[in-house]
Amino acid sequence: MLPFSFGMVVPPFLGQEFLTGSPDLVDAKGYVRVRDTYQSEEYDDVYAVGVAAAVEVPWQTPTPVGIPKTGYPTETQAHVAAKNIAAQVRGEEPKEHKEFGDIPAVCVMDAGNNGVVILADKMLPPRKHGMLIPGPQAHLMKLGFEKYFLWKMRNGYTQLP
Ligand SMILES: Cc1cc2nc3c(=O)[nH]c(=O)nc-3n(C[C@H](O)[C@H](O)[C@H](O)COP(=O)(O)OP(=O)(O)OC[C@H]3O[C@@H](n4cnc5c(N)ncnc54)[C@H](O)[C@@H]3O)c2cc1C
Repeated sequence: MLPFSFGMVVPPFLGQEFLTGSPDLVDAKGYVRVRDTYQSEEYDDVYAVGVAAAVEVPWQTPTPVGIPKTGYPTETQAHVAAKNIAAQVRGEEPKEHKEFGDIPAVCVMDAGNNGVVILADKMLPPRKHGMLIPGPQAHLMKLGFEKYFLWKMRNGYTQLP
């Protein structure tokens, strides 16, 4: 029992139930083990990205929390996977590679009327540079992005960034 006056309990992240029935595909928590092409380790034609994909890290925190997965790496992985799937459909070898840890960190974290912009050259250390820029401008950026993104999707401008 840990002494505390205000606590928050976060349950462990677990993969989708329908995947846990495929132990040759997923790790103990139900995430698909993938290569840096986002093909599963076991099958060349089964891909997983984003939350569904397992991430290996060379350390363990005192409380095992797993790795937070955010929108930017998910989209980057999806681009890699899409190019490799297209190559496979054409009968070519998948040749796009990007380790999760090598994807840059680009995130705007919202927190009420405040927020933090998080930028780093790599998702996982060792990094050459990384910075946190706190302030209400992060919250405004988030609001602006939300309006832009909804406008983009509602109008089908998926070619825009
Ligand atoms: C509260 C919250 C705030 C967040 N804020 C940020 C942020 O500010 N910035 C950021 O970058 N990231 C943020 N994230 C993380 C980001 O949302 C995720 O990393 C991202 O959505 C992962 O994308 P994904 O496609 O892997 O999974 P998801 O977006 O979860 O997509 C999975 C899809 O699979 C569908 N699905 C599930 N099971 C089945 C099934 N059996 N059959 C068919 N379909 C199924 C689901 O309905 C869903 O549409 C936030 C996440 C949360 C929960």
